[in-house]
Amino acid sequence: MARFYRVDQAQLLLTRGSDEGIDLLVRAFCRAGRDAVIECPPCFGMYRVAAGIQGAKVVSVPLLAPSFDVDADTLLRSVDERCKLVFLTSPNNPTGNSVARQVLLDLVEALSRKAVVVVDEAYIEFSEQRSLAELVSESDNLVVLRTLSKAFALAGARCGALIAHQSVVELLRRILPPYPLPTPTVRAALGVFDSAGQQHTANKIKRISLMRDSMNKLLTELPIVDRVWPSDANFLLVRFDNAARVLALTADAGIVLRDFSKQPRLENCLRITIGTPDQNARLLALLGEH
Ligand SMILES: *Cc1c(COP(=O)(O)O)cnc(C)c1O
Repeated sequence: MARFYRVDQAQLLLTRGSDEGIDLLVRAFCRAGRDAVIECPPCFGMYRVAAGIQGAKVVSVPLLAPSFDVDADTLLRSVDERCKLVFLTSPNNPTGNSVARQVLLDLVEALSRKAVVVVDEAYIEFSEQRSLAELVSESDNLVVLRTLSKAFALAGARCGALIAHQSVVELLRRILPPYPLPTPTVRAALGVFDSAGQQHTANKIKRISLMRDSMNKLLTELPIVDRVWPSDANFLLVRFDNAARVLALTADAGIVLRDFSKQPRLENCLRITIGTPDQNARLLALLGEH
């Protein structure tokens, strides 16, 4: 895995999914009841969950609407001495956009010796953007999270990779319980990285990315669709005229969409994961009838 991610083995910590990496970071860097983390909503929910368990405060620096770009100026102004971790997700879940590489690099540099920047790259295999993993030897306040749960379709195996400067990996290893990875997980993970596994995944990523871009066009043309955001992930964020109605309709047809319509900035928005060609066609046909 270190070879695949182009890092040294000493810069890699295998965890039970990225979720455990997030939990280890919060427990290692945040003193309970005193320190804080920053998140940029709308974003993945586990940063807040891990902070809550540790009793760390969550400071929200919302993404700018409607582009969902990171508000870097506000973010830097929000960092004080209590703030230890900044969680950024690229490509972001649920909005699908990537954070520009230069924005990430500037934040890492500006926060050097102040806070650790965690770049969660759960969906990066679907993106044209390059991982920041190779840069951890130069920056000891950069942590990159990768996972086998998304592009590699191994969510049930629970295998994530935390990539960081060797000193950070050594620190986190001290609070990682012994024997975290069961043998069946190790076997499944190794299968992903042999040449047949890599070929299979590369083909699948290409197919899904093409379908994502054609689904984006086709959904945009539907009368009940208000907006589809561009996506670097394996899903699309879609705003409908009436999300509740679409949810009821799709549920009746046995299609599960993820409801984000109750979250700030995501009114009437649903997240649609790209399925098989048949599943995508069924969804388009159903939405086209209404
Ligand atoms: C799914 C996801 C994860 C965590 O996945 P694991 O299964 O715990 O590896 C982390 N971050 C984001 C943004 C995700 O979407």
